[in-house]
Amino acid sequence: MTAAQNRCVECDDIIANPVCPNCLAAQMMVMVGEYDQNLVNCVKGISIEGDITCIICNERMGLCAHCFSKDIYCILSEKNQKISKEFLQRFDFDLRKELI
Ligand SMILES: [Zn+2]
Ligand SMILES: [Zn+2]
Repeated sequence: MTAAQNRCVECDDIIANPVCPNCLAAQMMVMVGEYDQNLVNCVKGISIEGDITCIICNERMGLCAHCFSKDIYCILSEKNQKISKEFLQRFDFDLRKELI
């Protein structure tokens, strides 16, 4: 028997509360869409296989919320500072500690 690999492929942290990038992206699109419909296209989910199961859709996933939202934040901050700040308020997976 092998131990479950429940660490993020990018930052190697244990994923304690797994919500996959695709489910997160759906929530992010709603939030971004409230401000700017054109920027919704910048938010894209990604499927990264892992041994962890998303608590929302039950898909296997390997990327933590922190790493995924950091990627999206970087894209948004290039396009619209106001929205990227709002994004941090809503999807702060320890991002503010790191970025600000
Ligand atoms: Zn990570
Ligand atoms: Zn999911």
